This record gives sequence, C-alpha cells and structure tokens, in this order.
Amino acid sequence: KTAEILCVGTELLMGNTVNTNAAAIARGLAEIGLNLYHQTVVGDNPERLREALELALSRADVVITTGGLGPTYDDLTKETIAQVLGRRLVPHEESQRWVAEYFRRIGRTPCPNNQKQAMMPEEAVVFQNHNGTAPGCAVAGAGRWAGKRVVMLPGPPRECEPMLREQVLPYLQAGSDTRLVSRCLYFYGIGESDLAHRLDRLMRESTNPTVAPYCKPGEVMLRVTAQVAEGQSANAILDPVVEEIRREAGEWLYGINVGNLQTALVHLLLAKELTIATAESCTGGLVAQRITSVPGAS
Ligand code: ATP
Repeated sequence: KTAEILCVGTELLMGNTVNTNAAAIARGLAEIGLNLYHQTVVGDNPERLREALELALSRADVVITTGGLGPTYDDLTKETIAQVLGRRLVPHEESQRWVAEYFRRIGRTPCPNNQKQAMMPEEAVVFQNHNGTAPGCAVAGAGRWAGKRVVMLPGPPRECEPMLREQVLPYLQAGSDTRLVSRCLYFYGIGESDLAHRLDRLMRESTNPTVAPYCKPGEVMLRVTAQVAEGQSANAILDPVVEEIRREAGEWLYGINVGNLQTALVHLLLAKELTIATAESCTGGLVAQRITSVPGAS
C-alpha cells in the first residue's frame, strides 16, 4: 500500500507557515508501514488542488490532505475532493451536534457558515475534532477512483496531530497487515562517505530491512528499517543485518537507538555508577550543557 500527502494552503507556499503537518503525518505513516513516495503543497485554488489530487490518486492508494476544512469561502478542500471522487456533500448530523457542542463549551455562538463544516461527503468515515470545529473524514473513491481513499485533516497542527494519532492511524492500520520497525545505529569518528563505502554492498542489496545513512552534526546515523508482516518477528529480520554492520564498522558504533552522543554517555555513566566533571575553555560551557540536557544527568 502506498500513501501520499497533499497539504493545502497558500500560507505554506508563501513560506509564512512551516509545513509541520507533513512531517507529523510522514512519521505516523512510517510507524504503521504505509509507504510514502510523494508530498505536495498546493495553494487555496480549486483548479490546482484538483490537478494535484488527481495526480496523487493516480499513483497512491491513500491520499492524506491537511488544511482548507474551515468555514470561510477559501476553504475549498472538502468541496473539491468530493467533486473529484464523485461524492455529494450531505449534512452530517453528528458533526452538526459536535460543532454546536464545541461552541457551547467555549461560550461562543456559531455563525451560519460553521454549518458548512458539518457537511460531509456521502458515505464518509468522520473523525471528530476535539480541539476545534472542522471534523476530518475519510472518503472512498467511486468510478475512475474506485479502490482509492482520501483522508482529510484540519490545518492547525493542534487539531491535525491529535486527530491523526488518535483516529486516523488506527483507521488506516485496520486495513493493513504490515508495520515498519527501525533500529537507529549511531557512529562517531567516521565520515558518512567512508561508512557508506564500507557498507556499499549491504546498502544496495538489502531490501528488507533497508539501510539508509543520515549525516548529523559531528556524527552519522544509520537507520535499519524492516517491513514486518503480522505474526513475523522484527528481530529475526533486523538482527542479521545489524550484526553484519557491526562486523564491518563496529569500531565506530557507539550505540543503538540511543538518540545522541550525550544520552549514550549519561546512560553509560549511570550504569557504571561514575560521575564526570568538565573544565572548559572556548566552548562557553557547551560540553556541560549537552551532558546536563539529558534527563537524569544531575
Ligand atoms: P480551521 O478551519 O480550523 O482554521 P483549516 O482546515 O481550514 O482549519 P487552514 O485554514 O488551511 O485550516 O489553516 C489554518 C492554520 O493552520 C494556518 O493558518 C496555519 O497556521 C496552520 N496550518 C495549515 N496547514 C499547515 C501545515 N501543513 N503545517 C503546519 N501548520 C499548518
């Protein structure tokens, strides 16, 4: 199964808002094992949204959109998507109640266009918004887009992210029998190109798990990711490859899933019941600052 992310909002195109929703969704999809090959940003323009959506639907099984579910005239996502998928918008009673209840809770009166937010594509699975007024939804395509699904999420991250975690990922996972499990291997004292050269054959040939390097300031991280089917053991897939990496480059490997150098150091000190002191010149206390930034370091 493949997914694609389509974020709607002119403010994203202009650089006024950083697209944190796309990163949050991408992380969530990786956790449930849905492959993601493309992310797109499109402005609040129905023609270009339609074009971007049709392209996304032509190459992915699930398209996840964010933004444009609001009550104003330029919030066109739901209308445009329903049209492309061949679904009518119909009043959704439960959403009407949720919108009314939300306004009662915050002590404000809804205006007529808030009811626009309670219109949903027919046969949609609707996700309640616990942090705002725009409900999200999942809609199956009909006709040309039969077999495809579009999930719509609200734009504000404090509405989008909880809806994703609490409702959308479980919904998507219910129809999938694989998940992704990663181990992150941290190296110090070796450059990315040297490490990649030593592991060249492994990185090219290994497809499950995949092995990918990430260059970080002063160190290199290798992410080993297995696609694990229901009933399969992630360790059985990951262990042989991690062992091979250890044989080739174990000399520079300082930890697995440790996060960073200072966390690895603090865990080691705690395990060995050792304390440490720093005397710094030129670094302005940076070494001590990095060490004490780790919870439990004091
Ligand atoms: P609402 O009606 O609740 O405002 P909406 O679905 O109509 O939601 P938008 O109007 O498109 O959402 O965006 C609302 C705000 O959310 C934007 O001003 C922006 O600050 C933020 N936002 C939108 N999209 C993203 C995104 N992809 N990443 C981070 N923030 C975003």
